[in-house]
Amino acid sequence: MISLKTVEDIIKSLEAWISPAWAMAQDRVGLIIGSPEQPVDHVMIALDVTEDVVREAIEKNVQLIVAHHSPLFHPATHILTHTPEGRLTKMLLAHDIAVYVMHTNFDVAPGGMNDLLAARLELQNVQVLEETWREKLYKLSVFVPLEARDRVFMAMGNAGAGHLGHYSHCTFQSEGTGTFWPRDGAMPAIGTVGELTRVSEVRIETIVPEQRLQTVIEAMIAQHPYEEVAYDLYPLANSGAVLGLGRIGELQQDMTLLELAEMVKTRLHLKGLRMVGQPEQMVRRVAVLGGSGAKYMEKAWRKGVDVMITGDVDYHDAMWASARSWAVIDAGHHLERIMKESVRSYLENVYRSSEQSLLVSVSEREQDPFHFVL
Ligand SMILES: [Zn+2]
Repeated sequence: MISLKTVEDIIKSLEAWISPAWAMAQDRVGLIIGSPEQPVDHVMIALDVTEDVVREAIEKNVQLIVAHHSPLFHPATHILTHTPEGRLTKMLLAHDIAVYVMHTNFDVAPGGMNDLLAARLELQNVQVLEETWREKLYKLSVFVPLEARDRVFMAMGNAGAGHLGHYSHCTFQSEGTGTFWPRDGAMPAIGTVGELTRVSEVRIETIVPEQRLQTVIEAMIAQHPYEEVAYDLYPLANSGAVLGLGRIGELQQDMTLLELAEMVKTRLHLKGLRMVGQPEQMVRRVAVLGGSGAKYMEKAWRKGVDVMITGDVDYHDAMWASARSWAVIDAGHHLERIMKESVRSYLENVYRSSEQSLLVSVSEREQDPFHFVL
């Protein structure tokens, strides 16, 4: 019998890509409403969990909303159902709709918000603007009888061990002799209780990022024939991937600020945007930061960036940039809706070959609260 997927299953799939550990310290991410045990056959992706979005979820029979912005960002001390916020929580609970949030962990993720933005503008030589997280790496070495070598190391590689750049399943394997003496109560796969046993074994060494460690060890033990699996785990001083907020990169060619603004507007399907700087000034090096990036403007400016594209730029931020003849494009916070299609296609890919189909949709009803009157 095929059992229905649960909220927990979907979370596991999402967290294989976007770790909650990558979120900024004050951020609230993860499952914030609902139960991990809730069965799911329809997931909806949304930027914000508004009342319109929840109504849409109810009409579509959605059991899980995956959102970028949490509806419970401020610590909730009261749930008053005559307020829009309380009403929203009540609607979600009454219809058993869970909410899972990927916020700053999605912003910094490889392939997350800021990479998506950089890709839309076809930026070259893309780097992180503000480093927030550096992946820890471990060396894992395990001793396996020769005949189980392939299935153990393939399982480890499939679970994420030995990934270096564009290569996976990177290991070093050396053969030798393992010894063991099964004592009373042991149930050895090879050898006899009370006798010293020598076995031809292979030592498989590989590198594992902290995020994949548990999965890799579980996969390794599941495929290993021994009752007691001998393995060593060493923390490494080598640095893993660097994650962070915002991206810096170069446009494919020099252009005027106005041309870039038009390009941003077209590629992000915006009704309008605001710009600080002279329309004719030339730009090539660009910083992008989805959401509220004003806090990182100075950093981008110091790094010699010609123009920063972000949202929520206020009057004083604009004055600061203007005083330095520096350019800023405020494309609005709502541009972050580009996350929806990317999360949808990720989940669809993960569950494409699964026996139990999962419907993944994106919210079509959410709207930018700002309107342009020109
Ligand atoms: Zn945001």
